[in-house]
Amino acid sequence: MKALFKPASGTSTSKNSIGGAAWVPEGTQVPVCRCCGAVLQLFVQFDVQRQFALPFREGSHFVLSLCPKCNEIPMFDTYAGQQLPARYWEKNVGNHHAALYRPTDAWAPAPGVDLLRAFDLVFTEQAPASESFQIGGEPCWVQEAEHFTCSCGAEMRLLLQIPENHPFPKLESAPEQPDSFSSDDYCAFLGNEVYVFACEKQCDERAVWITVQN
Ligand SMILES: [Zn+2]
Ligand SMILES: [Zn+2]
Repeated sequence: MKALFKPASGTSTSKNSIGGAAWVPEGTQVPVCRCCGAVLQLFVQFDVQRQFALPFREGSHFVLSLCPKCNEIPMFDTYAGQQLPARYWEKNVGNHHAALYRPTDAWAPAPGVDLLRAFDLVFTEQAPASESFQIGGEPCWVQEAEHFTCSCGAEMRLLLQIPENHPFPKLESAPEQPDSFSSDDYCAFLGNEVYVFACEKQCDERAVWITVQN
């Protein structure tokens, strides 16, 4: 399944979006950057829908937020081909927060910074790879294939793939992102090809591992 981007009118209130407010279970603590303490910017979020044919529970909600200042890859230890260590989501660089929240009836918008133009995500089977995100399916590796096993023993399965140098257009009022390929756009993890995996058993809402290639 592909996700395409449709400009949102004003600030997006959709739970399927780029930019806008992150939707999280009510009472969730708002994460900050572990490197610099900055409030994180929502980059992408979406609900897991039946049509995605993912192994995750329908109605789960994926949120990826990044530090607007600490533009860096997500991790220095790759753990490729290995079992991820306990609480591996705390063993990344600390410049992002990724979660696959379990279904609930109590979603609330989280306070956050608002630096990106908001887009609503539209889901379709067909779209050029350069103009869309890949949701689920098999990862399309730029380099050698990587494979991960969750610390709980379950397989990590592809949730989302973001193409290399995908632009996240910033608001005019927002400062430039350090080390982006564009003065008008932010990028995710220095503009690398981004692969987001989640534990197929959803053993923890933070059981998400991100690897990058270029
Ligand atoms: Zn930071
Ligand atoms: Zn797990």
